[in-house]
Amino acid sequence: DNEPRKEDLQRITELMDGFKASKALFTASKLHVFDLLQSRPGLDAAQVAQELKASVKGTECLLEACVSLGLLKKYENTALATRFLWSESPFSLHGYIQHCDSTVWPLFSHLESAVWEGTNQHEKAFGKKSKDIFQDSYYNSQEVKLRFMNAMHSIAKVTGAAVAKAFDLSSYKTACDLGGCTGAMAYEFAKAHPGLSVTVFDLPAVVEMSDHFHPLHTNSRVSFVAGDFFKDDLPKADLYILARILHDWPDEKVHVLLRKIADACAPGCGLLLSEIFLDEDRRGPSRGLLQALSMSEGKQRSSTEYSLLLKSHGFVTAHVRHTDNLLDAMLCIKV
Ligand code: SAM
Repeated sequence: DNEPRKEDLQRITELMDGFKASKALFTASKLHVFDLLQSRPGLDAAQVAQELKASVKGTECLLEACVSLGLLKKYENTALATRFLWSESPFSLHGYIQHCDSTVWPLFSHLESAVWEGTNQHEKAFGKKSKDIFQDSYYNSQEVKLRFMNAMHSIAKVTGAAVAKAFDLSSYKTACDLGGCTGAMAYEFAKAHPGLSVTVFDLPAVVEMSDHFHPLHTNSRVSFVAGDFFKDDLPKADLYILARILHDWPDEKVHVLLRKIADACAPGCGLLLSEIFLDEDRRGPSRGLLQALSMSEGKQRSSTEYSLLLKSHGFVTAHVRHTDNLLDAMLCIKV
């Protein structure tokens, strides 16, 4: 009974090989393998190689690895790949995967330094210091900005409906999505709540791209306002939305932002917070705890910790919802 157990070996191998699986997924996605096989299912490895202008040997290895990971059947997309990896699927994570490959991967290759220092590794990975990652890093180049926005857009399209439908919001007429990026989440709120108008508030560099993501602007209840939520007046609204914002910032800045929201809120106004909520004992979920390793200046919290934080600014938590999607949500009311 000293022999290693099969399940244990499987689990430990899975963990050791996790990075190879991630990189295989990122690479196939970057090379548009899933797009090619969506439009032309049934190609063999040599044909795929020719289309990609890649080596036959390398292409075959990549395709076989994708089969073993459940992403392809020899060779067409599985239902999972069609849903999440084909770049034209409504739930495509292609944009987020490109961000993981080009930004998160280099950061995590310096994880050891991140642990020694307790800080993010932007300087080591990308050769420049960034105090404010958005303004100093992502939005300096049009290419990096678009890649980041595509990443947020793709996640928001997958999570948006679950967050938007988490609560009865029929008592609210106007919402403001602070740091609402491309507006993907705002469009989901407007769709789920026919009586609600939603203003997306984000930095000018982001707001100027809104036509790129919504060329037809098909919902007149969604509008965009440019500004800095630490410095500028916030648009008036009776519901403020903060989705995936607070975990990025150090406590001082979190308090500045929450104080501004509290000041803009009359009693009865709502604050809808959406984040990954850590288990109260902090044993999971691992996607939250792994994200924390990127060492942004902020931190991941449980729903109780978020409730206490919001309470210190005069909000009581009315409902907490653990969705089956990637983001959880809580609705708080200003007293
Ligand atoms: N809320 C979106 C979502 O859940 O998909 C995007 C979250 S993204 C992690 C953070 C957003 O906050 C980005 O769109 C960024 O441009 C915006 N942001 C960062 N600093 C800001 C500031 N000072 N004022 C306004 N928006 C800001």
